[in-house]
Amino acid sequence: MRVAVLRKERCKPEDCNYLCMKFCPKVRSGVEAIKVGEDKKPIINEDLCIGCGICVKKCPFQALSIVNLPDALRKDVFHSYGKNQFRLFKFIVPRKGKVLGLIGENGIGKTTVLNILSGKLLPNLGREKVNHRDILDFFKGSEAMNYFRDLFQGRIKVSYKIQNISEFSRDEKVRDFLEEGFEEGERKEVSKLSSELRVSKLFSRKLMELSGGELQKVLVVKCLSREANVYFLDEPCSYLDIGERLKIARIIRKKLTTDNYLVVVDHDLIFMDLVSDFVQIFYGRSNVYGIISSIYSTRVGINNYIEGYLPVENVKFREFPIKFERRSEVRKSSVNELVKWSDLKKRIGNFELVVKSSGINEKEIVGVIGINGTGKTIFSKLISGLETPDSGEIYPKIKVAYKPQYLKVTNPDLKVRDIIGKVEVGSLFWKQVILPLRVNLLSNLKLSELSGGQLQKIALVECLLREAELYVFDEPSAYLDVEERLKVAKVLRDFLKFRESSALIIDHDLLFIDYTSDRIIYFSGKPAEFGTCEGPLDVVTAMNFFLKEVGVTMRRDKHTNRPRVNKPNSRLDVEQRKQNKYYYV
Ligand code: SF4
Ligand code: SF4
Repeated sequence: MRVAVLRKERCKPEDCNYLCMKFCPKVRSGVEAIKVGEDKKPIINEDLCIGCGICVKKCPFQALSIVNLPDALRKDVFHSYGKNQFRLFKFIVPRKGKVLGLIGENGIGKTTVLNILSGKLLPNLGREKVNHRDILDFFKGSEAMNYFRDLFQGRIKVSYKIQNISEFSRDEKVRDFLEEGFEEGERKEVSKLSSELRVSKLFSRKLMELSGGELQKVLVVKCLSREANVYFLDEPCSYLDIGERLKIARIIRKKLTTDNYLVVVDHDLIFMDLVSDFVQIFYGRSNVYGIISSIYSTRVGINNYIEGYLPVENVKFREFPIKFERRSEVRKSSVNELVKWSDLKKRIGNFELVVKSSGINEKEIVGVIGINGTGKTIFSKLISGLETPDSGEIYPKIKVAYKPQYLKVTNPDLKVRDIIGKVEVGSLFWKQVILPLRVNLLSNLKLSELSGGQLQKIALVECLLREAELYVFDEPSAYLDVEERLKVAKVLRDFLKFRESSALIIDHDLLFIDYTSDRIIYFSGKPAEFGTCEGPLDVVTAMNFFLKEVGVTMRRDKHTNRPRVNKPNSRLDVEQRKQNKYYYV
């Protein structure tokens, strides 16, 4: 079967004069595989199209996608957004008393699934008209049928933490928002969860005055305090530091009863590993089509995801697996120091950062971990020469390329090709950075038209293109989906090692830091008051310090070597705590 998708917001027939139609071999031979619709945009007839892909190549605005899929999938269409629009195949199987994790890149149908499960969107099975009976028939013999029967009969009460939290950044006091529409029991839950997540101190502030992380925690409290039998949490980790993510995972698990359903979507695989009982993986092509895998145990599902292969489906959805190393030995890098610093102090407002003397070696990638508000970004700016210390010095002066945490588009008319155009097609940079990150596909788009994740990748490419002795990346995984994080981690490590460059990488995704770093600097302190840092230390020591502070233990997966958080009070958790080995190599 053929799936043709037109991204109407990108299609500009007035600028291209229908190049797609002009070059379509079927149209040229008189068959109406493409015609012009009432809105003046092209319509592709999927039954007449032969899937040659010429129109895709000719379209100057990357507005068209045509994919050929096995015919067997025809019966599995669960929802279609309309003619030449995104299609979702198969569905998830929510289970009572279990947390189901949904993993996959952005634009692949995860939020669509949550909207369907919450009754906001009626799936159409790819047909013009459907009724509830058709949908129940689709699920005949599966556990999902009970769920949909209850949903259609009004027996499902949903509590939903949506993905885009900025919608809630409004002129309303936190306490009023949290208690609005709640009964006595729910208000008690608000106060219990608020104290666990340290939201109580925000009660008198307005939602619009909160940081992203604070607003995220308020919305998680609101969602989990509501009396419901189904809880959906769409990206509850965004804007939170590692400690807060792990705390939220524990709170979500406590919410589970034998009678409710919990479904969680997030891009942090360590969080998903801790929170889920089962996972289902979404694969396909972003904004074109998504297929939902069978249900896997969390460990097996995440391992499959990392390896890019689903054995039950016999589908390889990524060209390369991500390989983690055991860390029983310190990774070898040069012992020649590239840059050193003496004891440093820096005060900004009421916050003071104190840094112990140390340095970064040549050819070394140093990760930075720590809770929010303890000075990681200030430190990166000191090393980059964007801030000067109040006392102490950093020497010698070296050339630094810096990728900031917050990305600002200063020239919205600049196109991606203005940045990547200087890279020779076929060069090593092209093969090692541009192609794996697929940024060449964005060439004709303006920076102002990019999503957060696309902009992040362009910022990383732009930074790597600069000649420097040290590359500093502040939160390179922010806005990236799970698939992009794995790719960016691999590209950064492979490319920096190939070029024998040094780098400092600050991030909240522990898997990302574990994969990329040779050594780690560990930050601690009291958020917004003071921060100190230790290191660079070897990965095991730094992780031990940090994991002890946030109260979790980790082991390595036997099959993939990826780091995994132990379930609280499990045998391994208890043993490792006793031995003071929070990070097991
Ligand atoms: S894929 Fe080929 S046949 Fe199909 S619409 Fe495009 S150009 Fe025509
Ligand atoms: S799909 Fe591309 S080539 Fe076809 S009309 Fe739209 S912009 Fe032009």
